[in-house]
Amino acid sequence: AKMARKKLVAGNWKMNGNFDANEGLILGFLAEVDEQVDVSVFCPFPYLAQVGKLLEGQQVAFGSQDVSAKASGAYTGEVSVDMLNEFGVTQVLVGHSERRQYHAESSVTVAEKAVAAISGGITPIVCVGETLAEREAGRVEEVIADQLDPVVEQCAKFIENGVWNLVIAYEPVWAIGTGVTASPEQAQEVHAMIRARLNAMLGAEVAQSTRILYGGSVKPGNASEIFAKEDIDGGLIGGAALSSDDFSGIIRAAR
Ligand code: PGA
Repeated sequence: AKMARKKLVAGNWKMNGNFDANEGLILGFLAEVDEQVDVSVFCPFPYLAQVGKLLEGQQVAFGSQDVSAKASGAYTGEVSVDMLNEFGVTQVLVGHSERRQYHAESSVTVAEKAVAAISGGITPIVCVGETLAEREAGRVEEVIADQLDPVVEQCAKFIENGVWNLVIAYEPVWAIGTGVTASPEQAQEVHAMIRARLNAMLGAEVAQSTRILYGGSVKPGNASEIFAKEDIDGGLIGGAALSSDDFSGIIRAAR
């Protein structure tokens, strides 16, 4: 039986948007939001105030696409958890493959960011995923374990009564922005592997309560069959999160 984990549909805007487009986008999908599905959006830092205002009193969480592991100080260009909290942020993406690839973020750095977020009361959505070359070399399990284990090790101390404020997003790099989705079966296989690893390292309660999102070319047309899989608890949506129609369709698919 599928465990009752509430689905989460999260929109990752990446480096897109402007004041007009952001407002149109949010006003365009708000009508689709109800208590059946959790919804969140991740905007560029400069738009946190605008997005926070548009979402005032709404059942939609919002956050940024990255955060510093450091609390304050001489870290030019970085943004701290305390700053995010001033804007009402409740979730943050960490370790997106584009951060790992273009900003050389290691899994240890990603884990430190997750620790900083949880310590400040913000839920990190920790992204993991293999490249095509790694998949073709049969290294999926090894790569995911290398990305996941430092996070598990550093964040385990935050577990209380079998739960932690942490979400995992499995995003195969070869499926991001390419139009190629992992098949529901391919995705489920990795999600089950991640849950089994959580089970082995942290026990059944944590493993069963942790939401694991799938990301990589999710569209309204393929979301239902992906979200129907036992260990898939929603999606991290890139391209399709920039259209209110598409994002609405994906929220519907998660019901
Ligand atoms: P995509 O991006 O939906 O455009 O593939 C997903 C992501 O990178 O979070």
